[in-house]
Amino acid sequence: MYAFEYHRPGTIAEAASLLGSLEDAKALAGGQTLIATLKLRLAQPSDIVDLGGISEMNGIRVEGDNLVIGALSKHAEVANSAEVQQHIPALAALAHSIGDRQVRAVGTLGGSIANNDPAADYPAGVLALGATVVTTQRELAADDFFTGLYETALNPDELITEVRFPIPQRAAYAKFPNPASRFALVGVFVAQAADGSVRVAVTGAGLACSGWRRWKRH
Ligand SMILES: Cc1cc2nc3c(=O)[nH]c(=O)nc-3n(C[C@H](O)[C@H](O)[C@H](O)COP(=O)(O)OP(=O)(O)OC[C@H]3O[C@@H](n4cnc5c(N)ncnc54)[C@H](O)[C@@H]3O)c2cc1C
Repeated sequence: MYAFEYHRPGTIAEAASLLGSLEDAKALAGGQTLIATLKLRLAQPSDIVDLGGISEMNGIRVEGDNLVIGALSKHAEVANSAEVQQHIPALAALAHSIGDRQVRAVGTLGGSIANNDPAADYPAGVLALGATVVTTQRELAADDFFTGLYETALNPDELITEVRFPIPQRAAYAKFPNPASRFALVGVFVAQAADGSVRVAVTGAGLACSGWRRWKRH
């Protein structure tokens, strides 16, 4: 691991300001991807901005027709949330299918979609549910957020703060997990929105986890 300066801001504003002012800073959520990358010396950030102390980025709530999940929410929190289980049980099941108990206890929603691993589970749910990714700079429709293999529309100094999932009529997620990591060899998320339209998103089967189709039910 190369040397870096460590920062632990207490607010979103403080974190955004650090990322905006430091030369080559990187945000740290659960570290499930980033720590391994640093250990292998595949990245050499000048500064690490640890988001772990920012309580504003936590929490799961229903707001109107949306289920809003904080970016720092751990996979286990999403899987075990009564709100998620009641309103989008397929999303709770998706979170429960990620990795093992240790990964679910530490990995986060924001880290997963910012990383956009083409075999990751969450991007399929975010796309099929037509979610909105809320950041420190703007609100991005899921269709505009994922741009390619490990690529998103995020600017280097932009943080995901929460994701807004419209509550669907019904939804389901199924995947063939890699037997070791449980990443999706292929995974399919299907959602029927409140207006009756259906979206299908596939992970693991292409260059990026961003393939989706939309059908209108007649
Ligand atoms: C053994 C193992 C098995 C796994 N199995 C699966 C699986 O089955 N399915 C699956 O989908 N995933 C799987 N994962 C991935 C895991 O679930 C994490 O979501 C993923 O590694 C990201 O980790 P993290 O949330 O700790 O983010 P970090 O590693 O801390 O960060 C990852 C990247 O996202 C950026 N980032 C983090 N938070 C934000 C934010 N709020 N805003 C902007 N950028 C941010 C960081 O700067 C970094 O570039 C597995 C991981 C491991 C180690």
